[in-house]
Amino acid sequence: MEKLEMLYEGKAKKVYQTEDPNLYIVEYKDDATAFNGEKKGSIAGKGVINNKMTNIVFQYLEKNGIQTHFVKELSDRQTLVKKVEIVPLEVIVRNIAAGSFSKKFGVEEGTGLQNPILEFSYKNDSLGDPMINNMQITALGLATEKELDIISQMALKINELLKTFFWERNIILVDFKIEFGRCGAQIILADEISPDTCRLWDKDTKEKLDKDRFRRDLGKVEQAYEEVWNRITK
Ligand code: ADP
Ligand code: UDP
Repeated sequence: MEKLEMLYEGKAKKVYQTEDPNLYIVEYKDDATAFNGEKKGSIAGKGVINNKMTNIVFQYLEKNGIQTHFVKELSDRQTLVKKVEIVPLEVIVRNIAAGSFSKKFGVEEGTGLQNPILEFSYKNDSLGDPMINNMQITALGLATEKELDIISQMALKINELLKTFFWERNIILVDFKIEFGRCGAQIILADEISPDTCRLWDKDTKEKLDKDRFRRDLGKVEQAYEEVWNRITK
């Protein structure tokens, strides 16, 4: 399958049309941004790791009953996926306090939570991806109540599966962001799951192995992505 016209260039990926109207090719870049695009940079090799890691994780989820957009890995940076209509929500699941949650509620990063938390942000760069609740989502027609039920159930199941997946690789899954899309009558998992979109900490040292190293200028950014990749493929 060949890529045809580029439909969209995002911050981390490009999306291309193919000769099949139901399939897209996504191409992962090394570009990195943070704080709604204010901080820009590049992480060498990131695109390859994020592409291949997403594909391994999506195939693991598929095996465990989660439908995803994954079709076929075409090359180091390119994957064939099912075309979906993205539900314009960033679906965030948290197991441990960190990032904006820690800041908002004044709880130290690393504090355990009594239960996993599900949060939604409205995917809208010009508004800075504001947090949004279920009634606001349905009132604005971003998703129906039924779709939100499905998305919520899938997100919490994905969390349980991913917690196990990473724990077996000596990694704590602190939090993550996922996106869903409409594909025919179904809601399926789309976009990516990578160190760009997850907080991943070493189980023993609690060392950060994710994009926070870039966001916070902690150094050893490339090494962190490689470390996650090595643990996933070992
Ligand atoms: P952003 O748009 O936040 O800058 P990316 O650079 O990752 O993010 O761009 C990829 C875009 O492709 C995102 O907007 C994402 O929602 C969208 N996308 C991901 N998977 C699919 C899919 N299967 N079909 C259609 N769009 C998708
Ligand atoms: N996240 C993401 N894209 C975003 C915002 C958040 O992938 O646009 C991920 C982020 O990497 C983290 C989780 O979602 O794993 C929760 O992020 P948080 O709300 O704490 O925001 P941040 O601190 O990243 O601004």
